[in-house]
Amino acid sequence: MTRRGGGSVPEDELGHGYPATAPAPGGMAPGEFREWGHRFVDWVSDYLEGIDAYPVLARTKPGEVRDALPAEPPATGEPLHALFEDFRSVIVPGITHWNHPAFFGYFAVSGSGPGILGELLAAALNVNAMVWKSSPAATELEEVTLGWLRSFLGLPPEFTGAINDTASTSTFLALAAARERYLPEAREDGMSAAPAGRVYTSREAHSSVLKAVHALGFGRRGVRAVATGPDRAMDPAALADAINHDVTSGFRPLAVVATIGTTSTTAVDPVAAIAGIARSRGLWLHVDAAYAGVAAALPGMGHHFTGWERADSIVVNPHKWLFTPVDCSVLYVRDPSWLRAAFSLVPAYLETSETGVTHLMDQGLALGRRFRALKLWFVMRYFGQEGLREILARHVAFARRLAHAVDAAAGWELWRPSPFSLVVLRRSPPGVSGGERDALNLSIMDRVNRSGAAFLSPTEIGGETWLRFAIGNVHTAARHVNATWEALREAANEAG
Ligand SMILES: *Cc1c(COP(=O)(O)O)cnc(C)c1O
Repeated sequence: MTRRGGGSVPEDELGHGYPATAPAPGGMAPGEFREWGHRFVDWVSDYLEGIDAYPVLARTKPGEVRDALPAEPPATGEPLHALFEDFRSVIVPGITHWNHPAFFGYFAVSGSGPGILGELLAAALNVNAMVWKSSPAATELEEVTLGWLRSFLGLPPEFTGAINDTASTSTFLALAAARERYLPEAREDGMSAAPAGRVYTSREAHSSVLKAVHALGFGRRGVRAVATGPDRAMDPAALADAINHDVTSGFRPLAVVATIGTTSTTAVDPVAAIAGIARSRGLWLHVDAAYAGVAAALPGMGHHFTGWERADSIVVNPHKWLFTPVDCSVLYVRDPSWLRAAFSLVPAYLETSETGVTHLMDQGLALGRRFRALKLWFVMRYFGQEGLREILARHVAFARRLAHAVDAAAGWELWRPSPFSLVVLRRSPPGVSGGERDALNLSIMDRVNRSGAAFLSPTEIGGETWLRFAIGNVHTAARHVNATWEALREAANEAG
């Protein structure tokens, strides 16, 4: 330990009664961290190599994990072997394995090896990149890595990125910046002084858009759900009509949120047309590409992204389809000064004197920030652009082949060709429709999910139930897709 305060007080007087030597690494017994660190990494390696053997969906009953654990923390410390034993016997059985190659629910999310190792190192460093000097490398690596990602996605260099926990947060920040820019009345006196603002998004938009609008104080009436066409993409004519109508009714239109790859069916809003409308009306355009955004890096996908380069902000989640462990959501903004206007508030203890540096705390609500860029940097370097494209293209190819098979199978129905890596399908035998068909599909899904062999999730389109088969896991091979399609057909036979 070094002496502080000029060294006039001997250290043994300050620390009287305590050992003079520093504790071993991590406050643990000597050698313990190293030994258990090796054991845990061995466990992780075995887990990832043997992931196929786990049931995808946890078979735990509600409350089972809670009941297996004491209500109070231990009075005195416990050895790591006891913790590890409970981790294996209580926690792991209660896990739904997102890493499993037959996890096809929601949007398949998986951490890759380099991402997991990057996360380990970030936990070890435990830096908090509030201001530049509180961790220069964490701030600058975030800038460099998000510059790489931007270029990988083909976005122009005007976009500045920052990493948040989730797309929900990124969208909230984007809409807060839009409010700062287009509703300056709210700045001093809050929402009570402001005209009623409106945010436009499609009926198929993610619930995070509604949450953000509510949290920003616009209320339920602050969101206008614009009609979609038969392909579930926003109808730009309906958007223009809604804006016109609102202006004459005294609302202040602020922002449009367009989605590239909706959560339900991966529908793609016509962003070029929407950008034209937003530009001509002076509205903020936010593009939610949380899942599908990374597909912009693939050849042949450009037409889905036409116009997104004209957005004011874009969200893409590397933790969804770029093999980076949760959490890692990237918000790109064209003009970060609006984010700073909304969120920069510097108390005296955080004032710093450097110039020409970024203080990440100015770009959002959070002061403290994890070093999330490290794992993304590892992923991008380890796989390289070609490697990443190769995995993404593989997932798209699996989805196309599956869609083809579903389309050709008697008694099955495909919901439109899949633009990315989600296949939406249902069992639809002749003579079965309405609620009966919905129940049949849920029962087929439950059979497959309960078997532990695969996991799918449902969605609703026009009031009817469909099943989502989302491919996007770094571990997924053709056999997992084939076996799950086979399991669906078997379950359909059993369900009658
Ligand atoms: C998953 C998803 C979100 C929400 O993502 P989080 O990071 O979990 O908040 C938002 N929009 C779309 C289109 C999504 O698919």
